[in-house]
Amino acid sequence: MLPYTTITAAETALNRPLTTLETLWFNYTSTKSDYYLYCHNILFLFLVFTLVPLFYIFTEVLFGRFVKGYKIQPKVKYSFGDNFKCYFDVMKVFVLVVGPLQLVSYPSVKMIGIRTSLPLPSLMEITSQLFVYFLVEDYTNYWIHRFLHGKWGYENIHKVHHEYSAPIGYAAPYAHWAEVLILGIPSFLGPAMVPGHMITFWLWIALRQIEAIETHSGYDFPWTFTKFIPFYGGADYHDYHHYVGGQSQSNFASVFTYCDYIYGTDKGYRYQKKVLQQLKDGLKSDGKQNGGSYASAQDIKSE
Ligand SMILES: [Zn+2]
Ligand SMILES: [Zn+2]
Repeated sequence: MLPYTTITAAETALNRPLTTLETLWFNYTSTKSDYYLYCHNILFLFLVFTLVPLFYIFTEVLFGRFVKGYKIQPKVKYSFGDNFKCYFDVMKVFVLVVGPLQLVSYPSVKMIGIRTSLPLPSLMEITSQLFVYFLVEDYTNYWIHRFLHGKWGYENIHKVHHEYSAPIGYAAPYAHWAEVLILGIPSFLGPAMVPGHMITFWLWIALRQIEAIETHSGYDFPWTFTKFIPFYGGADYHDYHHYVGGQSQSNFASVFTYCDYIYGTDKGYRYQKKVLQQLKDGLKSDGKQNGGSYASAQDIKSE
């Protein structure tokens, strides 16, 4: 809740007129509690998780012929029923674990100092904080994920996430409830280290979710914005981790590629890419049609 009762009082406190966005923020939040604003995250998570994967499903249904070249594992097909089952399974964890966790974690958000007040953060503040959040999440997630690929962690927790050897958007948060809880820590660490505005926090939770859905989408589109981000892993990168499955000791990072490079856990992936390129070059010189993924490379290899 804002410490001003009128816009005039807010402008007096800031010693300047409110911007359009600040006026909107004032009108929306002035009578709402900080707890209520924090709980918006539950709604954003639900909307992003429900709607964003639909983009990939409808793209496949409506434009399947045009996008099949970008499908990473083209031989794997999921029906509407398969997608719905995955959605339903994740929603169970969402309702039983994620939602209640959001409801009770408010004191920690208050403690680390996420603010709801005016002035609103500048674009520079938002982007630099989001950059830190992504870096911190990526690094911490890398080590937790690597630990979960140990014998105990995999057998007892992480194998649920690997039930999809060819992932789909709805499978991004498909995991054992304990993994959902554990991986909440890296997501929370960045905001705890560099606390910002509630808007930045909302954006962070939504963008991280969208990023996870993209990397599990099963499609590696060349025109996505993320292709311009240096050291960004993307769908092909994480899809390989699922393709190899439980034996995988490669591509643990959630967002960027640098951790796997530094710690030497991307060798299998880089070898596959090299083999694929050689096969493509060979096929091109033979005048044959070529495939578009490491899965295709495996198929060609076994022929
Ligand atoms: Zn894994
Ligand atoms: Zn995954």
